[in-house]
Amino acid sequence: MKKYNFNAGPSILPREVIEDTAKAILDFNGSGLSLMEISHRAKDFQPVLDEAVALFKELLNIPEGYSVLFLGGGASLEFCMVPYNFLDKKAAYLNTGVWAKKAMKEAKAFGEVVEVASSAEATYTYIPKDYTIPTDADYFHITTNNTIYGTELKEDPVSPVPLIGDMSSDIFSRPIDVSKYICIYGGAQKNLAPAGVTFVIVKNDALGKVSRYIPTMLNYQTHIDGGSMFNTPPVVPIYAAMLTLRWIKANGGVKEMDRRANEKAELLYGEIDRNKMFVGTVTDKKDRSRMNICFVMAPEYKDLEADFLKFATERGMVGLKGHRSVGGFRASCYNAMPIESVQALVDCMQEFEKLHK
Ligand code: PMP
Repeated sequence: MKKYNFNAGPSILPREVIEDTAKAILDFNGSGLSLMEISHRAKDFQPVLDEAVALFKELLNIPEGYSVLFLGGGASLEFCMVPYNFLDKKAAYLNTGVWAKKAMKEAKAFGEVVEVASSAEATYTYIPKDYTIPTDADYFHITTNNTIYGTELKEDPVSPVPLIGDMSSDIFSRPIDVSKYICIYGGAQKNLAPAGVTFVIVKNDALGKVSRYIPTMLNYQTHIDGGSMFNTPPVVPIYAAMLTLRWIKANGGVKEMDRRANEKAELLYGEIDRNKMFVGTVTDKKDRSRMNICFVMAPEYKDLEADFLKFATERGMVGLKGHRSVGGFRASCYNAMPIESVQALVDCMQEFEKLHK
């Protein structure tokens, strides 16, 4: 049976990326060796890393003076590396969910952390709007897409201080003005690659402004100087990332990803709003994520939640169960998800509705 992969992460990747990575795992560039058994310093691997960096810069229109790094540790390690490298006295954070809170927790070890606003009281079902960012903060940290709650900041906020963004779950889904940021980071396992690599975009001259000692591996400068090869980088995920970046470019770039994301989101939210059996969980429609579409059964159909999940699973839908802290359903529609799969879910919701007329 055809599977429709709505997993939140690790998640769907373009089919050809998976196939071409599989081929390189068996035989890398006709070398007779697997991508998994060559040195990261082998002459054939450097061009892979270089191409991944170059495509990152091209696709996101990254200005001069920024470095793109591929590291280990996941976005969770960046929660600590960011304040280590950038927090001198004070930092501002927008609390939009569990990941933002985890980032704040780490920052508190390095200086004063100002939570400018929070939507915790409403289980993070909206993005706070009216808040003041202290002008003496070293940076303002945002989580652009809140994977668990299905909220998304689709525009870079206006800020008197430089931005830092956790873009784990919406990188490459829309154009961003990188010049407003001193750092953008994320785990790769949504729109980029299998788990195991973390991408970090750093503004070079924003570094070196804190006086504390930064452990070598946690210092962005180390990885800039080492060209992401200070230690052994995750070779296979970087290869897959390079292929995904090629795929994004061949498919029209970030602008086209943005258009497709809108099209898919309109289709599914349209059905959620039309179908009386379901309700969206995000209270302010402006904040609805295009990457993670969260919904629950309408109150009068509450008892049918498990039935719908079973019904959808029997029709090939995978990964629709909402995060344990939210419940209901979450359909993750990352870049690699074709609109036909979203249509299949909509069809499934309509069939289920007919059954319960
Ligand atoms: N930030 C966001 C927005 C996420 O969705 C996740 C993972 N789902 C993380 C951070 C944590 O990433 P990692 O597991 O790579 O540490």
